[in-house]
Amino acid sequence: MNTLLAIFAHPDDESLVAGGALARYAAEGWRTALICATRGEWGPISDESLADYENLGEVRERELRAACDVLGVSWLRFLDLEDGSLSALDGDEEQATLEKITRAIRELRPQIVITFGPDGLYGHGDHVAIGRLTTRACALANDANAFPQHPDQGLAPCRAPELLYATAPQGFYPRLIERLAETGHETHLWGIPPEQFGVPPEEITTTYDITPFLDRKLAALRCHRTQLDDSHVFSRLTQGLAAQIFNHEFFRIAEEPDGRPERAR
Ligand SMILES: [Zn+2]
Repeated sequence: MNTLLAIFAHPDDESLVAGGALARYAAEGWRTALICATRGEWGPISDESLADYENLGEVRERELRAACDVLGVSWLRFLDLEDGSLSALDGDEEQATLEKITRAIRELRPQIVITFGPDGLYGHGDHVAIGRLTTRACALANDANAFPQHPDQGLAPCRAPELLYATAPQGFYPRLIERLAETGHETHLWGIPPEQFGVPPEEITTTYDITPFLDRKLAALRCHRTQLDDSHVFSRLTQGLAAQIFNHEFFRIAEEPDGRPERAR
């Protein structure tokens, strides 16, 4: 069975940058899997009737499980790391995290892995770090000298998967905010300046038209209720407007250090 494994930092990352891809591959009969490094327990709380900082991690785990159901993600694993800590892991923690990600890759043997690239979508330290760790783990999975205890546990080295970095072209998110403003809604993206999102358009190597899966992507995003206050873009974005300006997902094929694409699609 073909497998797509997405590896992200927080509940909602998967729906935001890869919800359409996850739904599409699931619909095509692939097994789709997700590793979420943290439970986003220090994220915003849109409505204090939904959660507080005693239980936000638990609530966001439930939100993520609901989003996975919507997207057809059938395998979910948390790395149980603290929200906001990924760029400051010490040597032992980093090694343990690499082992966990490599273990999952050897277990699932995915053809494709999706994570964040060095841009971290908008420079978020956790995003940058999970992308870097995942990139490393994809290479380690294929290295027989890495984690020599694995083969005894039934986890043989496997071919490095094709690695895609999820992002957006610069201008994509500002356009969403502008178009919503034209309909009379002042909206925001978690309070982050929209021009911070994305990479120069010429860096995008792979664009998916997710129109057939847009309803699922929006429904999955809206499972993350604690993250969406009333003036959030995804509280206001209608299906009709989304079909015009939110119907694509964007990726960069990760390159090997010599600049050669790992594998052409
Ligand atoms: Zn995130």
